[in-house]
Amino acid sequence: MAASADEDLIAQISKLKQDLKSKKSFVNACAQLTEISEQWSQDASEPSVQALREAAKAAFTALQTRFSNPKFWQAGLDLFLAIDFHVPIEDAGKWRDAAVEEVDDEARERAKEQARLRRLQEDKMHNKGQFGDAVTPLSLGELLASQGIVLVEEDDRRPGMSRDARAELRVKTVLEEDVCVVCQEAMPAGSKAKAMPCGHLFHDECLLSWVKKSNSCPTCRFDDMPSEKRHYDDVQRQVMQRQPGLYS
Ligand SMILES: [Zn+2]
Ligand SMILES: [Zn+2]
Repeated sequence: MAASADEDLIAQISKLKQDLKSKKSFVNACAQLTEISEQWSQDASEPSVQALREAAKAAFTALQTRFSNPKFWQAGLDLFLAIDFHVPIEDAGKWRDAAVEEVDDEARERAKEQARLRRLQEDKMHNKGQFGDAVTPLSLGELLASQGIVLVEEDDRRPGMSRDARAELRVKTVLEEDVCVVCQEAMPAGSKAKAMPCGHLFHDECLLSWVKKSNSCPTCRFDDMPSEKRHYDDVQRQVMQRQPGLYS
């Protein structure tokens, strides 16, 4: 990695570390650090690893001392999982285990499954180096999991909203003071909020963490939106059309 790119990365991480101090920007900062970790380069310098370690440690300390709500722990868990898998930081496993204890049951199961699939994938990549072509290809489910799409097999578990649908959620101005039903905190008139297609408004970060887990509106249960499950079905259909017999 070129020295200037490395400096940019360190500056970016340091700024996000500052954002972790505020309740308003904590979840978003964690999400951005997660993204950075997922794209971590093997050539990244030791100072940039150090910067990420300090930011993640700051997130962990904030979670332990100030932001104890499960939705904050969920953002932290995503970050620690990403670091544990992609970046050589020893403490990440310890932070991840602590975070797993603080999130709700559904998120805990998801995290365990994600960790299991990642280990599986890691083993397969490792084996590929050893045995050349004698490698079992990843299954579609494993492939999707490596892209962050968690396959939900049981019909009674509500899958989250698809990434495309999430990206299309609109930002609106709050006209009359309202309460966000996700966190029960105020949304003052004139502030920006994120709208579900049914028109109900929520804090940006509250709605984003909600739709990752559920495809329906927290207020009215409106759910006519593409879910990750449907997205998965679409991908599977495309694969089957291209390679008939592969997944039947
Ligand atoms: Zn809220
Ligand atoms: Zn609604």
